[in-house]
Amino acid sequence: MPERFPASLQQKIEDRLRYYEDLGIRLFYTDRGPGSVNFGAAEEVVSTPLHTPVFEETALPKTTPKPAPAKIASGAAHPPLVVPPAVPSLFETTEKVNDDTLLKIREDLGECTRCKLHKGRNKIVFGDGNPRAELVFVGEGPGADEDAQGLPFVGRAGKLLTQMIEAMGLQRKDVYICNVVKCRPPENRAPEKDEVQTCSPFLLRQLDAIAPKVIVCLGSVAAQTLLETNRGISHFRGEWLEFRGRKLMATYHPAYLLRNPSAKGEVWKDLQKVMAVLGLQGKKGSPAGKPS
Ligand code: SF4
Repeated sequence: MPERFPASLQQKIEDRLRYYEDLGIRLFYTDRGPGSVNFGAAEEVVSTPLHTPVFEETALPKTTPKPAPAKIASGAAHPPLVVPPAVPSLFETTEKVNDDTLLKIREDLGECTRCKLHKGRNKIVFGDGNPRAELVFVGEGPGADEDAQGLPFVGRAGKLLTQMIEAMGLQRKDVYICNVVKCRPPENRAPEKDEVQTCSPFLLRQLDAIAPKVIVCLGSVAAQTLLETNRGISHFRGEWLEFRGRKLMATYHPAYLLRNPSAKGEVWKDLQKVMAVLGLQGKKGSPAGKPS
């Protein structure tokens, strides 16, 4: 980059562009030639947050409620998706998105140290399953077993998720499973806002690359991240919602079901709605198909 700014600003611009490049974004900045970009314009370009809409609320008063997630109109057999007004997004406006692959996203992630969760992890848990899956499950973050193996949902909660998937008439290899953050939070705490903000752009790229018919959010962290809301999951669990033109269902996390087995019935009802959309009949030999 030619030097047209004070050294400190030049360094900031270069650092930020390098960060975007790590994320696979390279087409949003155009050098129109000497003298065409003033300092103000340059600062505007490089200070654009990567995924602003999700975390815009940090600038709002604490009492300002976030809007409810967009619901899909009910009544019709195949109701049209309620697509919100276009939101400027670097991921949606570059040609790079269309060429993105899980392999490329994994390469861009590298041995990531972008947030403080890298300090305690053993293995990055990127995601696992069919890169062309019609159904993607999104959880919160890796636990101890996942951290040790580098695979999502392989502990007790993962076994329950596997039962749920099989009850739907699928195998794990048919779906894709990933998390909002890819490194284990210490003591299995919920990921913090800055960690979600730093890691979730990679999740968004994964979802765009896979382009599933249905996304199932397991638990409130996944749902609140993708739906850009701070409302509790109980307000919209089991309803069809919209995420970037795709159908999204939020349901309880399998770990919650381990502590509250009576909620399995509610989750099964949610999954049956997913099965209806995907044309799944459920596990053969088990009409109810309900995981025990
Ligand atoms: S959680 Fe995500 S952003 Fe943070 S270090 Fe791990 S991979 Fe990087």
